[in-house]
Amino acid sequence: MANLTLETPLQFVKGVGPRKAETLAEKGHRTVEDLLFHLPFRYEDRSRFAAIASLLPGTRATITGTILSSVLKRTRKRGFTIFEAVVDDGTGGILLVWFNQPYLRDILKQGREVVLYGEASLSRYRGRALQIENPQYEVVTRDGTEAIHTGRVVPIYQRLGDLSPRMLRVILHNIIAALPERVPDPLPASLVQGRGMMPRAEALRAVHFPPEGAVLDQYQSRASEAHRRLIFEEFFLLQLALGLRRQGIKQETRTTPYATTPAMRSKLAGVLPFHLTAAQKRVFREIIGDLTSPRPMNRLLQGDVGSGKTIVALLAMLLAVENGQQAALMAPTEILAEQHHRGIVSLLGKARYRCQILTGAMTAAQRRPALRAIEDGYTQIVIGTHALIQESVVFRSLGLVVIDEQHRFGVVQRAALRGKGPAGSSPDVLVMTATPIPRSLALTLYGDLDLSVIDEMPPGRHAIKTHLRSESARARIYDFIRSETASGRQAYIVLPLVEESEKSDLRAAVQMSEDLARRVFKDLRVGLVHGRMKPEQRDETMRSFAAGELDILVSTTVIEVGIDVPNASVMMVEHADRFGLSQLHQLRGRVGRGAHASHCILMHGDEISEEAARRLKVLEDSSDGFLIAQKDLEFRGPGEFLGTRQSGLPEIRIGNIIRDHELLEEARAQAQAILEEIRVESPASTRHRPLIDHMKRQWGERIGLMDIG
Ligand code: ADP
Ligand code: MG
Repeated sequence: MANLTLETPLQFVKGVGPRKAETLAEKGHRTVEDLLFHLPFRYEDRSRFAAIASLLPGTRATITGTILSSVLKRTRKRGFTIFEAVVDDGTGGILLVWFNQPYLRDILKQGREVVLYGEASLSRYRGRALQIENPQYEVVTRDGTEAIHTGRVVPIYQRLGDLSPRMLRVILHNIIAALPERVPDPLPASLVQGRGMMPRAEALRAVHFPPEGAVLDQYQSRASEAHRRLIFEEFFLLQLALGLRRQGIKQETRTTPYATTPAMRSKLAGVLPFHLTAAQKRVFREIIGDLTSPRPMNRLLQGDVGSGKTIVALLAMLLAVENGQQAALMAPTEILAEQHHRGIVSLLGKARYRCQILTGAMTAAQRRPALRAIEDGYTQIVIGTHALIQESVVFRSLGLVVIDEQHRFGVVQRAALRGKGPAGSSPDVLVMTATPIPRSLALTLYGDLDLSVIDEMPPGRHAIKTHLRSESARARIYDFIRSETASGRQAYIVLPLVEESEKSDLRAAVQMSEDLARRVFKDLRVGLVHGRMKPEQRDETMRSFAAGELDILVSTTVIEVGIDVPNASVMMVEHADRFGLSQLHQLRGRVGRGAHASHCILMHGDEISEEAARRLKVLEDSSDGFLIAQKDLEFRGPGEFLGTRQSGLPEIRIGNIIRDHELLEEARAQAQAILEEIRVESPASTRHRPLIDHMKRQWGERIGLMDIG
C-alpha cells in the first residue's frame, strides 16, 4: 500500500487528520519527510517484559501490568505532591512514585493496563519496599494498534505538543508501512555507492523500527549503520549550505583591492607603541592577503582575552581608511563599545583619524550630527553597539566591518551590518571572538568563514593562579582579599547572575554587596555593578574602580567583556559551578593584566558534585583557552556552550558534533569536493541543482540561506 511520498503533507497520513496535522506543523513538521527525521530518542525491547517478581534494585527494566491502586498525596511543602500507584503483572506488585505530576491521577487510574520503564530501587520510606521513581509510562488501549506497541523493539519519541510517544509511534508506523520501497536520495549516487551507504529508505525505516536482529545498543547510541547514514546526510547538507554561502560571498566583488604602500605600512607601524607579537603579525598578513585580493574578506579571528585581537583589527581598519573606505566596529555591550572607543582614540593619539562612537545611550541631539558625519563620509571609523545596524545609519562607503565577541550576535545581525556596504558590492568582514571555538563547532557554525588564530600573549603577562575553594575557606579568602587591598591592589567579586532578568537573583546580588560593604569589608570602598543598572550609573562605578577609587568591585558577569584594570589582582567568583568553563576563563582574564601576581578563586558549595568538581579542575590546571573550550563543549554540549539563544548555531537534528565529529569531518571533505564541481559548473546550471534545492529546503530557513542562488 505504497501511496505516500516524502513530500506528502502529514494530514494525509493515516491516523493524522487536520487537528494532529496542525499540532505537528506547529512543531515544524509539515511533510512525511519532516516527521521521518523526528527520530526516537530511545528504544525499548518489548519482545519480552521483565517479571516484576524478578526485579532487583539498581536495574532498569520494562514491565507491563495493571494498576491495582493509586493515591495522590499532598505534602507539607507547599505545592509539592507525590503520586503513588501499585502495578501488578501476575508475578508480583511494585510501587511507582512520581513527584509533582498530580495530573497523573486522571491518567493512571485503577484497572488501567500500562507499560513502564525505569530503574527499580529501594524506597527510603516504605520499609525499603521495591519501587520505581518517575518511570516513563504508556497506557495500553485496546484500539487495534497493540501489535505496534508490544512484542517487539519499539521506538520511544519525544512528545510533540499533545501528541504522546504512543500516538507518534502509530503515525510513524503508518508512514513506514505506506512508504515506497525506494525514496529519492539527495546525496550524489557516486557518494552513496562509493561509501557503501545504506539506501535512504532502508535507513529511515530502520531508525524507527529496527529490523529483527538489530544490535539495540548501537541504535540507542545512534551509532547504527542506519543512523550514521542519516547523520552523514545531515552534516553533508549543512556543510554544503555553509560552503555555498561562503562561495556566494566570495563571488561578490569588493570596491577595489586595497593597495599597501611602504608609506602606508610605516604610518600604521608608527601608530603602535609596541611591536606586534609573531602571532599578531601572522594574522595581520592573512588579513592583508584578503584585503588585497578581489574577493571580500570573511574571516573569524580567535584568540584569548588580551591576546591582542583588537589591535590587529584596528590595523585592518586603518588600512581600509587609508584606502578611502570607512570601517565599523560593532561590540555587544555599551561598556565594551565605549572602552574600544576610548582605547582606540587614545592609541591613535595625534595620528589624524576621525572616530565616532554610536550607541543606544546617545540622545537624539547627539545622534543627529553623528549620523550626518557618517553619511557624509567625514567619519572614518565608527565604533558602536547594535545601534550600528539601525536603518537610520547610512554609510558613505563602508569598506570593512569588524564584529567583536561575534557569538553574541546572530547571523541576521551580522548580515545586517554587512548589508550597510555600498550597493552591489560587499564590505570585508572580520569577526572576533575570545571564546575559542573548538574545531568541530567552528566547522558547523562558521563553515563559511576563514579562520585565524592568535595563540600567543603579548609579553609581560603574569600567569593567573587559580584555586578551587569551598565555603569553609571563605574567612581565609576574605583575609587574603584584605591583604591584597592593603598593599594597594584591587579585587573583583563576581556573582552568578546568569539571567540578568531574574529578579530574585538580582536581589541576592544587591544584598550580598551590601553585606560585603557594611560588614565584611566595612573599612574598604566597595562598589556594585549589574546589568540592570542605568548605564550611566554602571559606568560611573566602573570608572571609579578603574581610577582606583574603589577597592572592591562586586559584579555580575557584565564585567566579563567590559573592563580593563591592570591594578586588579584578585577575582573571587561565587558559585563558580553555575558558570561555563569558557565563561569563567574569560572572567578571570580580567585579572593578570598588570605587573602583579594575580589570583582567581573559584568558590563552590560544600556539596559540589563530582562532575562539577572535575569540570572546575580544568581551570585550575590550564590557561589554554582552546583546551578549556574543548572540555567545556564536551561537558555541556554545543547549545549551552554557545548560550542557546542568539548563538547562530544551526539546529542539528540527529547528529551530534561532538560524538559524531569524524562523520562531520568526512561530510565536510565530501561536500567540498561537490562544491568545487558546483563552482566550476556555476550554481545556476550545475547538475547538482536538485541537491542544492533539497539542501535549501532543509537548511535554508534554519541558517539564513534564502539569498543563495
Ligand atoms: P583582545 O582584543 O584580544 O582582548 P587587545 O587587543 O584589547 O586584546 O589587547 C589587550 C591589551 O594588550 C591592550 O592593552 C593592548 O594595547 C595590549 N597589546 C596588544 N598587543 C600588544 C603587543 N604586541 N605588545 C604589547 N601590548 C599589546
Ligand atoms: Mg577584546
